[in-house]
Order: sequence, then structure tokens, then C-alpha cells
Amino acid sequence: MIKVENLVKRYGSHVAVDHLSFQIDTGKIYGFLGPNGAGKSTTMNIMTGYIAPSEGTVTINGHDIVKEAEEAKQCIGYLPEMPPLYQDMTVREYLTFAAELKKIPKKERAQQIHEIMDMTMIADMEKRLIKNLSKGYKQRVGLAQAILGYPEVIILDEPTVGLDPKQIIEIRGLIKKLGEKHTVILSSHILSEVQAVCDEIMIISKGRLVASDTPEGLTGLMNGKASLEAHILGEKEEVETVIRGLSGITNYSIESSHEADCVKAVLETDAKEDIRVPLFYALADKKLPVLALSRLEKSLEDIFLELTGEAAEKQEAEPDIERQVQEKEEEGGNHDESNL
Ligand code: ADP
Ligand code: MG
Repeated sequence: MIKVENLVKRYGSHVAVDHLSFQIDTGKIYGFLGPNGAGKSTTMNIMTGYIAPSEGTVTINGHDIVKEAEEAKQCIGYLPEMPPLYQDMTVREYLTFAAELKKIPKKERAQQIHEIMDMTMIADMEKRLIKNLSKGYKQRVGLAQAILGYPEVIILDEPTVGLDPKQIIEIRGLIKKLGEKHTVILSSHILSEVQAVCDEIMIISKGRLVASDTPEGLTGLMNGKASLEAHILGEKEEVETVIRGLSGITNYSIESSHEADCVKAVLETDAKEDIRVPLFYALADKKLPVLALSRLEKSLEDIFLELTGEAAEKQEAEPDIERQVQEKEEEGGNHDESNL
């Protein structure tokens, strides 16, 4: 439904987007993940017709975003990185204005604005001037504007940037809800965010697509291999005999464990193989108790860092905000909206 082909954007000699091609299918939440400067906003700005590409095409439901801009834009709602909010309008005035721009039929406007203000939880603020709203509320007004007209595709550029942990939880919840009825594309430089929210992750680095898969698929992508670690009560030789008798193991090592009379076996298999059940029974057969069995997976973070070569990015302050988000989620105290 959205087809991006060989997209290039040059700023002078700088290539911000470098021959990017991908396809977006209906009904999923997609995440553009990449460090700052990767080209996420540039790509989104081209996809939504805000800026023109240097080369390449974007087609939305068959409409070229450059040649058939109006038809193409009808299918998209966009929350840019800096939403163009009119500070001296009230929330309702702004949404009415946006509805007019989107050519929503006059008799549907009031109803839609009502529904969307409810959905984004800004109804209480409808008479407030936008300039007097907190960052969290401003972001929701921007989001409401993107949802107006109920476009098939909703594109959100870093929708949680600059928000506090509680606001982040709420916006992520709202995005998930939107994903039930719309195709959503969001960008983020925060790995755990796309992992928590998205069905498909597209990793962008230096203007190029370096990986595209589900969060699970990306984790499994690493060399196509999976590793298991087993702590087994028994002699090394006995354990080795059992392991040699199992199919699907491509490599293994067995060493003595920190626990007395135990060995630690690390088994490598093809990513698609899951040998935990046959391994368990084969060891049980030989009266070799499995005391612990776990999968050793490379985290998505390892993969991201490997693909983008952005080890330094990891040192940023983000993990801290993520920790706060997690703490808040665990608290479950998500009802008080006073600081939004
Ligand atoms: P992201 O959104 O992933 O952080 P951007 O798309 O904003 O990345 O930027 C990609 C690259 O293009 C960056 O190196 C940025 O400095 C450059 N860039 C973006 N917009 C412009 C512009 N208007 N003029 C010149 N360079 C730009
Ligand atoms: Mg950006």
C-alpha cells in the first residue's frame, strides 16, 4: 500500500537518504529506528509530501506523492517532529481549522473533532490556548490533528520525544490503540520504544535501510543461530554422549559448572530449531537432571548497535528515561493526569 523505491535526498553534497526502498502493508505498526541524523525525519517528510526527493518515488495506494499529491495525502495523517501548532488558537479552533484544511465534510467535522478529542484525551482542554498547554498536551493535539479524517496511514515522527515517563506511557498506549484500525509508522531513536510498540522494525543508519523484520525476527536474525545454556547434574562424558546423539546441534561446549557435580553445556543450533524438549527427555532418559536451561539470545540492542555502529549512542541519557517509564508502568499509577 505504501511503496518507497530508491529514495534519495541530498543536501548539497550530503546524502541524508541513500537509495531507500521498502514497502508498508496495511494494518501494522511500523517503527523506523535509527540514531539521530539517520534520515528518519527526512524520509517521513518525503513520504508525506512535505519535501521533494532528489531521486526515487513514493506511492501511496497507487498515488505518486509528487505527481498525485492530493490523492496521496488524503490517505495520510502526519505528526511532524515539530508540529505546526498555532499557539494563539484554542484546541478546538485549531482542530476545526485542521479539519477544514483536510476537507472533511462540514457536517462530519464537529462529530469527528469530538470523537478524536475524546480518543486523545484533550476534551477538557478544548477552550485552552495552545500556547498555554504542557508539552504532553501539545503532543496530543498534534496527534489529534494527524488522526483527523481517519486516514488509513498515520505517520508519527518521534512522538514521545521530550515527554515525561507518564506521558510516554500514555502516548504509547494511544499509538497501540490507533494500530488497531490504522497503519501506523513511527520513528524513534529509542530501541525499547519500537520494541514495545511496533510489529515491524526498520533499522535506518546513514540514510540506508540496514534491517527490516519483526522484533522477534531481528533477534533471531543474528547469524541465524540460537544458543542454549544448560546446567546438568552429571559427568561431562555422559552429558557429551547424550548431546552427540541429538540432531540439530551445530556446535557445543561442555565445561564444569560453578555448582558441585554439575556441568555447563552451551549448545548452538539453527535459529529455527528448538531442541529444548528432545534435550530434556534425552538427558532424563540417562538420569541426568537438568537444573537450568535457558536460551542465550543476543538482545535487539546488540543487533542495533552492530548494524548501525553506534556504540556511543548507547551512552546517552535515554536508558534513564526508559527506566523511569518502566518504573511508572510497574507502579500502574497512570490515572492522575495532573502533570500533562
Ligand atoms: P533523523 O530524523 O533520523 O534524526 P534527519 O532526517 O533529520 O535524521 O537528518 C538526516 C541528515 O540530513 C542529518 O545529517 C541532517 O543533518 C541532514 N539534514 C536534514 N535536514 C537538512 C536540511 N534542511 N539541510 C541540510 N541538511 C539536512
Ligand atoms: Mg528526526
